[in-house]
Amino acid sequence: MDILACPVSDCRSELDLEVFTSHDLESEGENIEEIDEALITCPKCGRWYPVIDGIACMLPDNLRMDGKQRIEETAFLERWKERISSEIIENGIPFSLKS
Ligand SMILES: [Zn+2]
Repeated sequence: MDILACPVSDCRSELDLEVFTSHDLESEGENIEEIDEALITCPKCGRWYPVIDGIACMLPDNLRMDGKQRIEETAFLERWKERISSEIIENGIPFSLKS
């Protein structure tokens, strides 16, 4: 999976990736690792983005704050809260489990 730059227009930083689950896929005789669930973090603006079912959800803040997206991303935080830093769980940007 190609990790793009942070989508925030005044940030565009390179991103960090922590993989939680993945599976091997054979493609043209080569084993490649396909990510299922992972956490993407931006070291510059402090935002976090989830990878859910192999899809990096890198949406602008306003599309994450409510509705189905908020529910899915909150469930992601709940699912991996033992492995995600308390900073993100408690004070994550744009939201956390406590906000
Ligand atoms: Zn950023």
